[in-house]
Amino acid sequence: MVSNCANPNCGKPLHYLREGRIYVFDVPAGTDDVSGKRTRRLEHFWLCGACAQTMVMQQSTEGIRAVSRPQPRLHRETTVTGQFLAS
Ligand SMILES: [Zn+2]
Repeated sequence: MVSNCANPNCGKPLHYLREGRIYVFDVPAGTDDVSGKRTRRLEHFWLCGACAQTMVMQQSTEGIRAVSRPQPRLHRETTVTGQFLAS
C-alpha cells in the first residue's frame, strides 16, 4: 500500500488518508504462474494535499507518474492560437 506522496520531489509520509488524493490504476501484472492467465492488479498512489493542488497522477505508456495539473489559462491560449491558424 502507499506510504509516501507519489511526487518524487516531495515524498511526504502518508499519515492521514483524508488529506490529499488517492489514485488507483489498473495495471497489467504479467502472467499468473498457477493458472497461466494474464493478471492485472491495482496500484495505489497518493498525492499529499499540497501536491494534489498542482499535480495529477497520469498513466502513459512509460508508466504512472505525477505530472503538473494543466492550467486553465494555458487551455485558453491554445484555443486562441487554434482560431488564429484557422482564419
Ligand atoms: Zn507531496
